[in-house]
Amino acid sequence: MTITDLHCDHCDRFVSAPDAGVRFVYHPGRAQFRDSSGLLCAPCWDELEQWLGQDRPLRQCAVCREQVTREQSLHVHRVDDAQAWRLCGRHTVEFLNGLRTVEPKLDSATFRFPAQE
Ligand SMILES: [Zn+2]
Ligand SMILES: [Zn+2]
Repeated sequence: MTITDLHCDHCDRFVSAPDAGVRFVYHPGRAQFRDSSGLLCAPCWDELEQWLGQDRPLRQCAVCREQVTREQSLHVHRVDDAQAWRLCGRHTVEFLNGLRTVEPKLDSATFRFPAQE
């Protein structure tokens, strides 16, 4: 994916300058599913970071602390900071459904990480 859309992926606000927003990457533990085109405006990133919390535990969902494995979690990090937060399936769906570019929206009842197939 190329970065052409300079609008916040959550609230659709135009991100006018590089430091007015945060670029982020997410993938389910596998490089081929990596999406590095994420962009949030600064207020939405702050909100996301509050939701994720300060800690980035290796084998736990950042939100609910459920145990997760590398390929059974979504890894989310800033482009300029490789240390990732992990999300369990339920919170992956919540996170992805909050992004404008994720269409169609995911259903937590049927969502599976690709490594499960
Ligand atoms: Zn925003
Ligand atoms: Zn969770």
